Amino acid sequence: MQPSDMGSLMETLGRDALGQLQLRRFQMVLERMLGTNVFYSEKFGTVGVTRPNDVSSWEDFSKLPFTTKKELSADQAGNPPYGSNLSFPRDEYVKIHQTSGTTGEPLRCLDTEESWDWWAECWATVFRAAGVGPSDRVFYGFSFGPFIGFWSSYEGAKKVGALAFPGGGMSSFQRLKAIMANDITVLVCTPTYALHLAEVAEQEGIDVAGSSVHTTIHAGEPGAGLPATRARIQRAWGAKTYDHAGATEVGAWGFECGEQTGLHVNEGEFIVEIIDPASGEPAEEGEVVITNLGRPGYPVIRYRTGDRARLVTDPCPCGRTYARLDGGVIGRVDDVMIVRGINVFPSAIENILRSVPEIGEFAVDIYRTAELDDMVIRIEVPRGAPEEVAAAAENAIRNALTLRARVEAVEFGTLPRFDLKARRFTDHR
Ligand SMILES: [Zn+2]
Repeated sequence: MQPSDMGSLMETLGRDALGQLQLRRFQMVLERMLGTNVFYSEKFGTVGVTRPNDVSSWEDFSKLPFTTKKELSADQAGNPPYGSNLSFPRDEYVKIHQTSGTTGEPLRCLDTEESWDWWAECWATVFRAAGVGPSDRVFYGFSFGPFIGFWSSYEGAKKVGALAFPGGGMSSFQRLKAIMANDITVLVCTPTYALHLAEVAEQEGIDVAGSSVHTTIHAGEPGAGLPATRARIQRAWGAKTYDHAGATEVGAWGFECGEQTGLHVNEGEFIVEIIDPASGEPAEEGEVVITNLGRPGYPVIRYRTGDRARLVTDPCPCGRTYARLDGGVIGRVDDVMIVRGINVFPSAIENILRSVPEIGEFAVDIYRTAELDDMVIRIEVPRGAPEEVAAAAENAIRNALTLRARVEAVEFGTLPRFDLKARRFTDHR
């Protein structure tokens, strides 16, 4: 029997059968785009793929070239305003969103009515797996703009019958009042913002841990998969915290089940691969490569997400056969920093700092002085003795990473706050 938190029988299919279905669906995507989608027709023409039947096995699939964000951006710049990765006449598209543009010009992506509905279905999978349904009231702590993040979630809420409250254009205090007044049960926002809201609540004397919020779902940036960050959000909100992963170019591809044994990939709608970012060969841990199966009007095929993760394919205790990313998205493939000869991942530093309960917001700067690398971490200590907390953080980092960092406590409220794509790490070298 199918558990109630699943929307589709696909979720428990044997992996061979699932693979066959994915391949068949991929051919259906090819059928609808080859010939009309200039970007992919030209790209695949170079490897002799001109008909859907040219990809009839996983071996054929593995010979398809990867797609990068750089390529999509160059294509958009060369064919303004939307590029040539469009399979249908422009009039068929009804939604436009764009990437946040943190690494260059924003990339504009279009959806048809059909693919917008697909986005919502993918989010329904996220909600069902987190146990969200008709009795829930979902609040979005997000400034609704052209970034797709929470729009698709907002659409998805209606698929599971939940009531959706858009929290755009409000201050954090106004959002908190709305959460309390509407007996909100589910908070959807970035992990950073969930912590910030809890911080404001504490200053204002609002008891969010005692509120009706029983579930928080996080997207827009990694973090909810980090054990210490997750524990902190759960404690602050008195709720169960779920991680999610998605991208404007790709779709809402990752979700967590109640067992929380990693981030499931929605393999009914996406093909996931992990590659060694240097060689492009399959790997257990490396760069996440994704192909979407429900967006034929703006497909991405073997798309290099830049996300770093480790793939696990054994069955989950929840009953799903969908693969999982162990610990979620661990970071970006290009975000490793070499400090004094040691490889340091920002996620590792975040996890350490979040496990010191007295530390609030933080910022990390790396400098080079006299040929030596210096890592300076500024922390806010809303409660507790700042000097002692800074010393404890220095110790924790030295023990975990054998790295000496200088930790300085700064005045509360002086470090930047973020509601999307937090940027706490700056390499000045
Ligand atoms: Zn599971």
